[in-house]
Amino acid sequence: MHTNSFGKKNTQPRTWPLCLLILGFCTACGVTGNKDFTQPERAVLVVHGGAGVIDRAKMTPELEAEYRAALRTALLAGHAILSEGGSALDAVSATILPLEDSPLFNAGHGAVFSARGTCELDASLMDGEGPRAGAVAGVMGVRHPILAARAVMEKSEHVLLAGSGADAFAKQQGLETVPNEFFHTERRKKALEQQLSDSKHGTVGCVALDGAGHLAAGTSTGGMTAKRWGRVGDSPIIGAGTWAQDGVCAVSATGWGEFFIRGAIASSIAGRMRFGGQSLKEAASQAIYGELTDLGGTGGVIALDGEGRFTTPFNTPGMFRGWVTQAGQVTVHIWKEE
Ligand code: ASP
Repeated sequence: MHTNSFGKKNTQPRTWPLCLLILGFCTACGVTGNKDFTQPERAVLVVHGGAGVIDRAKMTPELEAEYRAALRTALLAGHAILSEGGSALDAVSATILPLEDSPLFNAGHGAVFSARGTCELDASLMDGEGPRAGAVAGVMGVRHPILAARAVMEKSEHVLLAGSGADAFAKQQGLETVPNEFFHTERRKKALEQQLSDSKHGTVGCVALDGAGHLAAGTSTGGMTAKRWGRVGDSPIIGAGTWAQDGVCAVSATGWGEFFIRGAIASSIAGRMRFGGQSLKEAASQAIYGELTDLGGTGGVIALDGEGRFTTPFNTPGMFRGWVTQAGQVTVHIWKEE
């Protein structure tokens, strides 16, 4: 299994000379492959905050700065876990938590409204080791749906719990519960009243690679503005909106969920790599610019492979996205041309 030096704190001093010797030998022979994590195209954690038609007229410099700062804070939260030797799974959860609490994003507090005026939240988490997965759909009273998804994975024998059963399970597991009004914001209420399509974006997602070479992915959303109540999108559907498989890739999607479900977009990227021999970049590009676009869908993915290569293709004018390198260097982008 691939390992990088990230988070390795237990190396005994006496083993260093031997390690250096082996490293030097391997590098000379080229057997370590191309794993230089100082290259700009390598990252240990990638985040998205939704894809879509982001209205430039409404994006004041102040608001844009807020989005960039929120993504940066989230990236650094995940990076802190990894740099202490923590797991990719913990890093994904830690990255998504502040985004669920931010009113800027369509997840947790700040989620979009369904047609009946409720916030109905979907989330999923997948651990590339195993693999294991957990998800919740249509929860209405759990402050952090990503933690509920994790509890399903770790504390139940199921993968997906929905509706009141999922809310009851989260409560039973001791997760923080809140009234549905906790998620409500004026901005999203206005979006529902005016059926503003550009305000439905802001689903959040994260993929991470830890020092042991494990991959993880998570996604959390309020879904789409004015969705029919009871509608479940791609975000809690393992294989559609989220996928992680050690040695292959981790993927989190955002966009028009029905199309991601029909194309099983997230797992199709892993399939293209495993069975078609494609690189991460080729696989993700074909899934978004080929399959999703051909189906008539809009959106994008963040994807990371077991070597730290990543890609963020999307067929919309913008996607909130960012990544952090092993050394802690953060990059955040919003627009296509960035
Ligand atoms: N994919 C989400 C859904 O369809 C929405 C989004 O990502 O904007 O529920």
